[in-house]
Amino acid sequence: MLKLYNSLSRKKEFFRPRKGKKVNLFVCGPTVYDFAHIGHARTYIVFDMIAKYLKQKGYQVFYLQNITDIDDKIIKRAKEEGVFWKDLSRKYEREYLKDMKALNVNSVNKYARATAHIKEVISQVKRLLKKDFAYQITDGIYYDISKFKDYGKLSGRTVLQAEDAISRIDEAIGKKNKGDFCLWKFSKEDEPKWKSPWGWGRPGWHIEDTAITEKYFGPQYDIHGGGRDLIFPHHEAEICQMESISGKKPMVKFWLHTGFLTVRGEKMSKSLNNFVTIRDFLKKYSPRLLRFFVLSTHYRSPIDYSEETIKQMKNQLERLDDFIEKLSSLKKNSSKTKKITSLMKEVEKEFNEAMEDDFNTPRAIGAVFKLITKVNSLLAKGKLTYFQGKKILKFLKKVDQFFNFIFLGRKKRIKIPLEIKKMVQEREKARKEKNWKLADEIREKIKALGYQIEDTKEGPRIKPIES
Ligand code: AMP
Repeated sequence: MLKLYNSLSRKKEFFRPRKGKKVNLFVCGPTVYDFAHIGHARTYIVFDMIAKYLKQKGYQVFYLQNITDIDDKIIKRAKEEGVFWKDLSRKYEREYLKDMKALNVNSVNKYARATAHIKEVISQVKRLLKKDFAYQITDGIYYDISKFKDYGKLSGRTVLQAEDAISRIDEAIGKKNKGDFCLWKFSKEDEPKWKSPWGWGRPGWHIEDTAITEKYFGPQYDIHGGGRDLIFPHHEAEICQMESISGKKPMVKFWLHTGFLTVRGEKMSKSLNNFVTIRDFLKKYSPRLLRFFVLSTHYRSPIDYSEETIKQMKNQLERLDDFIEKLSSLKKNSSKTKKITSLMKEVEKEFNEAMEDDFNTPRAIGAVFKLITKVNSLLAKGKLTYFQGKKILKFLKKVDQFFNFIFLGRKKRIKIPLEIKKMVQEREKARKEKNWKLADEIREKIKALGYQIEDTKEGPRIKPIES
């Protein structure tokens, strides 16, 4: 049975949705003012895998994601570029969706823009004012954190600690507590604005999410996801808003947070200027390589990005490709056989246990590679039948419904000309005879013809030299 680490209880819990097999999943979407980077991709690939895995387990998942299409960063960037804020945010929303499509992140059922939910935002602010959880000052309407006794239950911060927090907390003169956050911001002269009972303005950062989730899911739902940087103040603020409006708790049954994609240990981010956009990554590498890279680490742990690691991952993916190629080219008449039933059982058990343990994808992928190593040695001895090959391929296809890096977007291997294959055999013979000079000469000849040999434990691998 699936166990998930719940950031709210800080422990692993058995996953049971609120109602039967229905799972309402909400993940914080991007603020669209620039191209998305591979740090964003990490979070969205993880939740795409999670949604697809839950679907395969028979859950009816409704995956909702917001798009922050109005906020300070968007207004600032639009001013800098001399463009209308809406043109800028629509442009980067389109680019974001293109990137997600390229990465096969396609499990989101509904993308909801903040600006399409102003009515819902106003309704929430009205209710918070009425219940005395909010107050108005000169520049907007604020949430009073001292009124909510559960403040800090997600992030572990107290009201006093929120006073010290300096990051991403709205600055304003006249706030009752330093940690109070903005619900409705009055707009300055040249800023985008919407009409409200309190004057022209726009939503604060946190309120769009609860306005959107209340509309589609109601005040309580199953899973809320996002990167761990959002735990405080963003997700803490969401809990304050929704639970004080509805009086029902918990707003969310399971809180899941992804670890950061880092560069030399530091979070990849726009502000640190250490980012690689998804677009740039895909100019050099395939989308499946990014999925493989991301899913090879547990979703809660940090992953450090470097070209070196990506190259190693590329080699591993090629090993997987070779394996599939070999399984697919088995002939029906191969007769020699060794039973693989117990191996398959063992691998499937390991795989499933890993996935059910808080989506331990590195362990699950480890089980797949264990299968590759064991079956490769059978293949080398010609001891695998066509039907056994089919069985393994079936398992891999099932797994790839949520991984999307095994078959999806895989290029068919280029056929190696017979002439090259013969030369490789001659080189193998020379190597066996320890005639290194001849072996090297043959390697050079092969290279001149546009192919390279890689000596692996399972024998030589030939591939065309990439231009
Ligand atoms: P933002 O547009 O900055 O609000 O980010 C959108 C989503 O991407 C949020 O869930 C962030 O937590 C996540 N995110 C941003 N940077 C990274 C990173 N370096 N690693 C993992 N997730 C990230």
